[in-house]
This record gives sequence, structure tokens and C-alpha cells, in this order.
Amino acid sequence: MDIPQKISRIREMASDLWFCWQKETPALFRMLDRQLWEETNHNPTKFLLHLYPQRLDQGAKNPEFLKLYHQLLKKYDHYLNKETWYQKNYPQGGLLIAYFSAELGLHESLPVYGGGLGVLAGDHCKSSGDLGIPLAGVSILYKNGYFGQKINAHGEQEVTYPVLNLKEIPITPCIRLDGSSLILPVEIGEKIVFIKVWQQKIGRIHLYLLDTDIPSNSPTDKKITAQLYGGNEKTRISQEIVLGIGGVKALRALNLAPTVWHINEGHAAFLIIERLRELIKQGRSFSSALREVKFRTVFTTHTPVPAGHDVFSKELVLIYLSQIIRQMALTPEEFLALGWDETRHVFNMTKLALFHSIYANGVSRLHAEVSKKIFSGMYPGMPKEQIPIASVTNGVHLASWAAPQMKKLLNKYLGINWIDNQTDARLWEKVRQIPPEELWQVHQSLKKDMIRFIRSNVYRRFKRNLEPALLMRETINKLTPEVFTIGFARRFATYKRADLLIKDADRLARLLNNAKRPVIIIYAGKAHPADYPGQKIIKQICSLAKEERFRGRIIFVENYDMHAARYILSGVDLWLNTPRRPLEASGTSGQKAAVNGVINCSISDGWWPEAAQGSNGFTIGEDLDFINESVQDEENCRSLFHLLEEKIIPCYYQQENGLPEKWISYMKESMATIPWYFNSDRMVKEYFEKFYKPAAMNRDIPF
Ligand SMILES: *Cc1c(COP(=O)(O)O)cnc(C)c1O
Repeated sequence: MDIPQKISRIREMASDLWFCWQKETPALFRMLDRQLWEETNHNPTKFLLHLYPQRLDQGAKNPEFLKLYHQLLKKYDHYLNKETWYQKNYPQGGLLIAYFSAELGLHESLPVYGGGLGVLAGDHCKSSGDLGIPLAGVSILYKNGYFGQKINAHGEQEVTYPVLNLKEIPITPCIRLDGSSLILPVEIGEKIVFIKVWQQKIGRIHLYLLDTDIPSNSPTDKKITAQLYGGNEKTRISQEIVLGIGGVKALRALNLAPTVWHINEGHAAFLIIERLRELIKQGRSFSSALREVKFRTVFTTHTPVPAGHDVFSKELVLIYLSQIIRQMALTPEEFLALGWDETRHVFNMTKLALFHSIYANGVSRLHAEVSKKIFSGMYPGMPKEQIPIASVTNGVHLASWAAPQMKKLLNKYLGINWIDNQTDARLWEKVRQIPPEELWQVHQSLKKDMIRFIRSNVYRRFKRNLEPALLMRETINKLTPEVFTIGFARRFATYKRADLLIKDADRLARLLNNAKRPVIIIYAGKAHPADYPGQKIIKQICSLAKEERFRGRIIFVENYDMHAARYILSGVDLWLNTPRRPLEASGTSGQKAAVNGVINCSISDGWWPEAAQGSNGFTIGEDLDFINESVQDEENCRSLFHLLEEKIIPCYYQQENGLPEKWISYMKESMATIPWYFNSDRMVKEYFEKFYKPAAMNRDIPF
């Protein structure tokens, strides 16, 4: 396509994911073609590919478009050229962090994430770039992504696998000096599998995505990187070899020399093996290679359930890593010992990572404590408090998660540089100066945007399922900005207990249908295709939603992704989080809600105990340990109903002059006390100060 001279940099905009979190970007592309922008899932690359060229010519002649275009480019150039936090604090420079993660949630147009873990990894990369910390992200290009969800007429989840068209996503192949695409061999079992390396630009940093779907591979090997969390354990170990071993090789081929290697969850832990192999090949002894690797490795664990940790059988490991073990000149026993789990008699990726990292951490204070308990079997005889697991509590990328209207409001009251100064607690005190009616007006406008989004989501599903028009009207008509609206949206893993309220359906029906104080609950989330109990909960909720007493009071929104998340998280009044304590390592969605003025109502688990102060949200029950799960569920269910009935709903409906003053004071308290800390700039700075810098400084390792 010929790009008019006046807007020649529009292609550059489309190829850098930085633009995806600017509040001006959607407005800019909508001006060219509103419908296409929606149809292309807000993907600038795909949008430009399918746009009629005349529309670009029209844009180049439209003063309003040009104004916004130049404004956005000015912001971009400033972003790229300003002095960063890293430059200011570490003028000597010299660091490079390699960040490995099996999933990356950057934007809805690149569906290579499953849920919180991936989105957190994406936010980590984005904030590193914002702070100017040199980071190379490594992940996998899943051509069939993570699955899409459709709910059929029986309330059952059906899965669809997207087929990524590489022309439609903003990635480019990495190129060698001779101009050829970078393709690397990696040993899987006795075979050689070839990996193509793609790069993705986001502002100041690059991410590298690995892909085995290339002609030189066999049909089976092409499929290794097809799906995130798909296939069997053979697919999984192959994927993890591609990520860990292939990822290190890719960075080497790109002439990058990381000073610190960060393993985000055990899936990526094979990077340790490849680095050991490199050193042994260079003539190092095994023990000195072990020390060298350990001193530069950082590991973050995300799973407080023993069964959630990635493990492989001895046989599988010896088969799939056979060539690598030979090249390392290790016996099978020596190799297996690197990750051998005595208690379960398996090769445990968490153990591999934990024992070969100089720093390891959980993702909230509570989770670090729980992790020490879970891993105590790996440290026989060691007192629990000495088990080396620190904590860095998760945070979210505020620039990606604050809605455009909210950003505008914060620009006005916190100053236009609030994004750069987001970790300054005093700055957020200024939230208290926002006039209540102004904050409420922004909230109501976000609620209206969400309602529009939900209506079209429900409409699409009901039409596809040939549902009666009456049912559809009754499902969406009660959704108005005046009604108190609760949101629950996340993966439908059973420990998150999406079914906590429906355990007492009669009490719920009374609560929702109170004529003076009506309530609506929005549910959304995918259950993994192999998670049948999770799918059963979806079905239960969808069936209830059709019952007369719940019609329009319980609404299920299909295909939860980052796009849906942005609407629901910023448009509801209350964000509900009901994990079975202590199984939620951190959770992050409530942090995204908080910056948008949405109030958290949560079990005291994950990040929430660190944030809760009584007047900035609501805590369900107490920090108790229960004798068993069903007692815990019953007790939490009762506490939640009591809290909603006696405290939360009356507070919302206590309105004066059309304004729920008390509720707004909760909103302000929440915005003044949560986002300044629970953001990914603070999180990445903490990783930097606690782990990256000290690990990179380990210069005199005694060999
Ligand atoms: C933030 C986010 C999550 C995380 O949800 P939690 O239950 O808070 O861990 C999951 N999915 C998407 C799409 C998200 O944006």
C-alpha cells in the first residue's frame, strides 16, 4: 500500500506495540475506519493491511486526524529519547536482562497468553521498557494461540483455535548478517528440530518469539509450537526445550549477552541446561559451570499448589534430552539430579529452577510463605524461615490498564506526568481533590462503555445460538448504569470459586432481585479444555442465567481476553475475588480494577492482604485456616453474602443528590492507596534492586 507522505510513519506506529497502550491510538484508527478497527481486534497491523487506500488519503487530508497523528508521534519520539529511570540511576549501564516466559500477554491481537501469568509477563516487559531497563523477552509464537471460547445454547464451552496470519501481526523475522532468516537447530531426542526466531518491538525493547512451524521440520515438529498449554506431555517437554534451550541459542545468535537470566515460572527452566552445556563445551568443569550459571539466574514461582508445578518422568527426560546429556558429558544420574524431586520421583522443573538460581521469589508476601512450606521437602532439615524464597508482589502496567477516560481525569488532577511518577505515593493523594461528581461521571461513562460491550457480546452469542429474541431482551435490558454491578472475570480454575455465590442460589436470587436495591453480576472466563470441573461451573452459571429469577441479573460474557478485561474491569462497581485461600499466588485483576475506581471485594489472599486497609475495599471473612475445603467454602459463602447484604449494597445505594457519596469515598481511598504500589513499575524496580543488579554484580565468583 502506498502511504501518503504526510502520514508516512503510520506503518512504524503499527509495528510497535507501544502504540497499543496510548489512549489516542484507538481514536486515531477509528477516524480512518471505525468498523474495521473493531473487526481487526484493535490490531493496527491487520487494520492497515485491510484498509482501503482511499481512507488513508482521506486521513492525510483531515486536519483533525493529522493533529492527533502528530500528537501521538511527538509522544512516541519523546518516549524513545527521554532520560529513563535506568539511565538516571545507573549511568554506568552494561546490564541486559533475559526474561523467559512460556506465555506473554501484551495485547488481545497477539493471543499467546492464557491468563494472569502471561499478562503479568507482558506487563513486566512493558514496564522494563518504560524504565529503560535493557531487557530481551523470550517466548513462543503459538500459531494457534490460546483457544477462543464460544458458549453454545446449552451453556457449554466450545473451543476454537485461532490461526495466526503472520502478515497480520506486528512481528518480523530476525535476520542474519547475510540477510537470511535466523533459523536455529535444537536437539530434541535424537532429532534436530529447527526454530525460526521472530522479533516484536515494544518501545525501547524487543521480544523474541520462537516458532517451529517451518518447512524444514517434519509435520509433527511443526506442531510443537502450535498451541499454548495444548498437546500431551511430549508436546510440553518439546515446547519447553524449544523455549529454554532454543531461547538461549537465539539470544546468542543475535549477539546478545545477557548479564542476568530471569526464569518466569518453571516452564522456562531448561535455559539453565543450555547455559551449563555452553560452559562445559568451553572446557569448564561441571561444578564451576554450575556456580557460574547459578550466580546469574533469577527465578519467580507463581503456583502455590504442588500439582501445579511442571514435572516430567525420568524416562521422558532421558529420551528428550539424550543428545544434550551426552554433549554435557554427564551420566543420566548426574543429569537427573539437577531437578530430581525425591518425594514424587519425577524431574521437577521448579526444583531445577530453584536450585540453580541465586534469587528466587514468590509473587506476594503470603505466597512466599506458602512456597517455603510447599518446597520444604526439597530442603530436608532446613528451618522454614531459611528456605531462600523472597517475595516481590505483582503489579500491573497502569498505562495499559487505566481506561482512556480515567487517564484523562488523572492527567488533570495528578498532572500529565503521572505515568512516569506512578510509584510516588504522595502524588496519588491528589486523587482526594477530584470533585465527587467528576469522578462519578467518569465511572458512569466507563460503565456505559462496558454495557455496550456486553450487549454486543451477548447479542452475538444469542443470535448464533438461535435463542428467542425475548430471552435476549430480558438478558440485556436490565443492564443500566444505575444498577449496582459486580464483576467476576478470570480463568475458571476451580480454586478461584466462580461458583461461590451460586452455592446458595435462593439467597442470591433474593439479593439480586431486591426491588429497591437491584444487583447484576457479570461473569466471564475460560476453563482450560482439559478442566472439566471448571467447564461445569461455566455451564451452571449459564443455565442459571436463563432461569426466570436470574434473567438479566446474572450475565455470562463469552471469550474473556485482554479486550473484554479492559471493559469489565473498568466498568463494574465491585470487583469480586474469591479464591480458596491460600491458593491465589497473587492475582492482578483487582489491581487493574483499582486504578479505574472499581472497588475490590476479596478473600484475604494473594496481593489483597497487603493492600486492604478497611476503607479502600472489602475483605471477605477472616484469615483463617479451615479443617477442610467444604467448610471453608460454606463459611466464605456466608461471609460474602453477609458483607454484600449488610454493608456493600446499602453503601452503594445510600445516595444523596444522586451521588453515592460514601461509595465515592471508597473509590477515592482505593485509588489513593492501591495503584501507587501495585503497579509493574514498582514491581520491576524491585526486581532490579533486589535481584538483577546484585546478580549482575557477582563478578568475583570463586572457581
Ligand atoms: C489480569 C488478567 C487475568 C488475571 O486474573 P486474576 O484472577 O486476577 O489473576 C486473567 N486474564 C486476563 C485476560 C487478564 O487481563
